[in-house]
Amino acid sequence: LPRVPGGAQLHSDTLHGPVRTLRVKMVILGSSGVGKSSLALRFVRDEFKNPSPTVGCAYLTRVVHLSDVTLRFEIWDTAGQEKYHSVTPLYYRGAHAALVVYDISKRETFVRAQVWLKELEKQYIPGSTVMCLVGNKGDLDQERQISVQEGQALASDRSLFFTETSVLSGDQISELLLGIAHRVYECIGGQQG
Ligand code: GDP
Repeated sequence: LPRVPGGAQLHSDTLHGPVRTLRVKMVILGSSGVGKSSLALRFVRDEFKNPSPTVGCAYLTRVVHLSDVTLRFEIWDTAGQEKYHSVTPLYYRGAHAALVVYDISKRETFVRAQVWLKELEKQYIPGSTVMCLVGNKGDLDQERQISVQEGQALASDRSLFFTETSVLSGDQISELLLGIAHRVYECIGGQQG
C-alpha cells in the first residue's frame, strides 16, 4: 500500500476510487470500575460482556467509515495502571482522541475525572486532540449522584464533547463513536496525508 506522510495509508476501492484511511489513536481514562474496558469492547464488538481482566497494553481496532474517509481506531487500554492513580504519559502520548469516563452513580469517579482532565490538558495542545467527557452507567439512574447538567457544565467549561452512555444497554455508544470520528476528522484530517 502506498504510504503517505503522517502514517495514513491509501488503499484502492474499486467501486469508489481511492479511499483515505486515517489511523486514530484513542485512549480511555477514568477510575477503576467506571466501565473503560467494557466501553472499548462495545466499540469493537457492539456487545456487552464482562471483560476479562486487563492484560498487557494492547489496543483494540475498530474501523469507522465516513463519507470520504475511513478511520481506523486503535483503542488503547490502560492495562490497569489507573488503579495506582497514575498512567504513564507514554500511554496517552500522540492520542488523537481521549475519553475521560466517570460513573454517574459514584461521585468520587467524577471528582477523579477532573484530575484526569487537568493531566490531559497539560499534554495536549487544544485543537489537536479531541477530548470527551463520558458519564457511563446511565442505566443506574436510580443511584445517580451526578446530574446530566453537572456533567454538561464540566464539559462546556472546557469545550469538551459530552455524552452519557450505558455500556450495559448500548445507549449512545454508536453516537459517541461517530461523534468522535467526525471531530477527529475535522481535527486531523488535513494533517495525515
Ligand atoms: P474499568 O475498570 O473502567 O475498565 O471497568 P470495567 O469495564 O471492568 O467495568 C467495571 C464493572 O462495571 C463491570 O462489572 C461491568 O460489567 C460494569 N459496567 C460497565 N459499564 C456498565 C454500564 O453501563 N452499566 C452498568 N450497570 N454496569 C456497567
